[in-house]
Amino acid sequence: MTETKHITHWIGGKPFDGDATRRGDVYEPATGRVAGHVDFASAAEVDAAVAAAKAAFPGWRDASLSKRTSVLFRFRELVAAHRDELAALISAEHGKVLSDAAGEVARGLEVVEFACGIPHLLKGGFSENVSTKVDAYSILQPLGVVAGITPFNFPAMVPMWMFPVAIACGNTFVLKPSEKDPSASVRIAELWAEAGLPDGVFNVVHGDKAAVDGLLHHPDVKAVSFVGSTPIARYIYETAAANGKRVQALGGAKNHMLVLPDADLDLAADAAVSAGFGSAGERCMAISVVVAVDPVGDELMAKIRERVAKLKIGPGDHPESEMGPLVTGAHRDKVASYLDSGVAQGATLAIDGRETPVLGGAGGGFWLGPTVLDHVTPEMDAYKDEIFGPVLAVVRAGSYEEAMELISANPYGNGTAIFTNDGGAARRFQNEVEVGMVGINVPIPVPMAYYSFGGWKDSLFGDSHAHGMEGVHFYTRTKAVTARWLDPSHGGVNLGFPTNG
Ligand code: NAD
Repeated sequence: MTETKHITHWIGGKPFDGDATRRGDVYEPATGRVAGHVDFASAAEVDAAVAAAKAAFPGWRDASLSKRTSVLFRFRELVAAHRDELAALISAEHGKVLSDAAGEVARGLEVVEFACGIPHLLKGGFSENVSTKVDAYSILQPLGVVAGITPFNFPAMVPMWMFPVAIACGNTFVLKPSEKDPSASVRIAELWAEAGLPDGVFNVVHGDKAAVDGLLHHPDVKAVSFVGSTPIARYIYETAAANGKRVQALGGAKNHMLVLPDADLDLAADAAVSAGFGSAGERCMAISVVVAVDPVGDELMAKIRERVAKLKIGPGDHPESEMGPLVTGAHRDKVASYLDSGVAQGATLAIDGRETPVLGGAGGGFWLGPTVLDHVTPEMDAYKDEIFGPVLAVVRAGSYEEAMELISANPYGNGTAIFTNDGGAARRFQNEVEVGMVGINVPIPVPMAYYSFGGWKDSLFGDSHAHGMEGVHFYTRTKAVTARWLDPSHGGVNLGFPTNG
């Protein structure tokens, strides 16, 4: 009999079993077997996590900036030292290949490194003598208990967009990670404890809608950061706001890559294949639509075919694997359904991923190889829906303007890229396109930690993007102080509205 793992909450600096009346299956996508069970939090367990975070807040809020940064630096070193171990946990439950999983840990670490600079980032302003002998200044203070709700596709990196900045700012944190791959968050909690973070500053509750709703309605949760699909992002935004919370909710995506006739087509084909099929297309910044401007469509397609034919799919820990399985069987079936609907609606199935061999002959897993649908048009489901799998749609456009109209009309606005050697065209694109993150000859323009990550339109609800200065702004509130220290010029009672003088 194969052993299954039990994953539970982390509350107040230690594992917390709770009553666990409900549990979810955690799969090993490469074999399809249930590898573990994760406890689903009830309202009482959410209350316990929020209570632990609330109790830890006064001490952490008052911890000096030096104390906070010393913990952050230690945490940075520990995560770096355990990067391969975290990557293995992620790969086993998500399915992505080990190098890709290690890459996500590295990108998350960049946010920890950014947060190590918090003493500089939290500096307010100071104005001397705004009135006679009166000074004014602003200070940035933490909010209290804040919550993060995260998706399956980046079980380490996306939580790390949130908690390093929130904690550095002096808040305490409750994370509700995806129930599909929950182990990395618990290991991260252990590393925080080892780094010396006081108990209760970082907590993890597992679960589904019940746990999320518990956080959204909890009066002691002051802010909610969410990353996931658009319908849930909208729900989180509306519900958290209705409950008086600050909220940022990042949603889904349909990222277009525009290829102009003057582009380097080898570079463009490399980019389309890497960005379309990396992590089996389960990235919010994956390229899901290539828009080839006439007359390059056929030549670009030939180059894409050549490259896809060489891709190797297999278990995440197989040394030759470039692409792993999908996260669950249900998700694989849903993604695969777009192959049939695409053909039925008039697209050409240029490459059928159902026929791709799997390294090591691994049967039973949630496999679907790289798939390309050509001659896709905007009315097709394969164009309209976020597929979130290894299915690349190729659309032909007659001109730059026609391609731009397509991108502007799309409800999503997360990422996009243009491939061209014409600087003027690239500049016009960056100016006109209604998308939050833009690549110029770069297919996955994920901003560095010191910029902020976020899309436009249905890809983000709220006004703050993640990490960078927008993250610091989201997790703090500003207090403006006006101060006068008495001196002999003190002028007595004045009932007029204070003005400068
Ligand atoms: P999801 O929306 O199904 O789940 C995200 C989180 O919400 C999970 O923690 C889940 O438990 C919770 N949740 C699910 N259903 C809920 C409900 N009815 N009520 C309350 N909470 C609920 O997303 P997913 O499938 O885990 O992740 C994939 C999605 O995330 C894709 O749409 C992808 O584009 C998006 N994503 C977006 C970004 C971004 O930065 N914009 C980044 C990564 C992923």
